[in-house]
Amino acid sequence: MYGKIKDHLTQTLTEIKEAGLYKEERLIESQQQAEITVKGKKVLNFCANNYLGLSNNPRVMKAANEMIEKRGYGMSSVRFICGTQDIHKQLEAAISDYFKTEDTILYAACFDANGGVFEPLLTDEDAIISDSLNHASIIDGVRLCKAKRYRYANANMEELEKCLQEAQAQRFRIIVTDGVFSMDGNVAPMDKICDLAEKYDALVMVDECHSAGVVGETGHGVNEKFNTYGRVDIVTGTLGKAFGGAIGGFTTGRKEIIELLRQRSRPYLFSNSIPPAVVGASLEVFKMLKESNALHDKLVSNVEYFRNKMIEAGFDIKPTQSAICAVMLYDAKLSQVYASKLLEEGVYVTGFYYPVVPKGEARIRVQLSAGHEREHLDKCINAFIKVGKELGVLK
Ligand SMILES: *Cc1c(COP(=O)(O)O)cnc(C)c1O
Repeated sequence: MYGKIKDHLTQTLTEIKEAGLYKEERLIESQQQAEITVKGKKVLNFCANNYLGLSNNPRVMKAANEMIEKRGYGMSSVRFICGTQDIHKQLEAAISDYFKTEDTILYAACFDANGGVFEPLLTDEDAIISDSLNHASIIDGVRLCKAKRYRYANANMEELEKCLQEAQAQRFRIIVTDGVFSMDGNVAPMDKICDLAEKYDALVMVDECHSAGVVGETGHGVNEKFNTYGRVDIVTGTLGKAFGGAIGGFTTGRKEIIELLRQRSRPYLFSNSIPPAVVGASLEVFKMLKESNALHDKLVSNVEYFRNKMIEAGFDIKPTQSAICAVMLYDAKLSQVYASKLLEEGVYVTGFYYPVVPKGEARIRVQLSAGHEREHLDKCINAFIKVGKELGVLK
């Protein structure tokens, strides 16, 4: 009897629309890259997580095609039944090598990695201490576990210390943080987090989705940036952002932890293996990143160029340490009008406002990529300035 709930759902959808929170999807008619085609019009893309520009890299695409030829299209199984090929183990080794960890377990997505990491390791005797701005998948993972929950304000080490003191009542403690927070582009202070973890006998877990490939001298993430190798116990990450952008996630870290996840982690045990094409392409990505740091260098210089020019032009930019650049506008409506005017100028970015960011902190988030050329950056900056003058944001 669908009728009653149908009315209820229609009502909910209307409420979402009336609150201005209804998400529309724009259809892209090209490959994912710096310049994309949207409704027949070419626009510059500044809102993808394509940090290293690998989403349509010819070498990566070729590797995907070749692996389909060699190992087929689908696995038709979970890992432990008959879904593990030699290449899955090779990719796990490549990820361990990249992050300097002991072992790695692959998932269909980082959402699953985070969803399946806590429950096998911790019980109601233990504590999870989580940054308030952690990703939704961490929040869901924590919910699936019976451990006592503590929350500290974003990157606030005094609050974290208080949580750790309270959590001495529990058997084991784990501190969980995003490496880069997606709305401000700020980096978690891993060195300080590790110091506190050692002082209060806690494990440390970091989600490197927005930081891997981006942060650190050669882009190897927050452990490289803060030299916290060996002090962080669990790293989760995605193959869906800097590393080619297709799909897939992983947990990498201490070998006993990974071994137990293979036995007990539900999204690993009960969900399909990553397809050979993605594994082949990912192997090529890690090979490329070992051969040369050129893509990461280009990303860093693009971020610096963009940020400096925008500050010079008079924009209010959050102090970013990543490839995420938040152009602060504060007013929700303004952020939406601004973004749509930028699209008319051929620049595709997203405006965010409450509840995605705090009230009165509306902004446009710009995501830089190694796929952007100088002319793309200039076109974007000039469009920002033009619209900024029109809307009275710039004088
Ligand atoms: C994107 C993201 C995820 C989800 O990754 P998927 O592989 O797309 O599921 C998890 N955590 C953080 C911090 C992310 O930014």
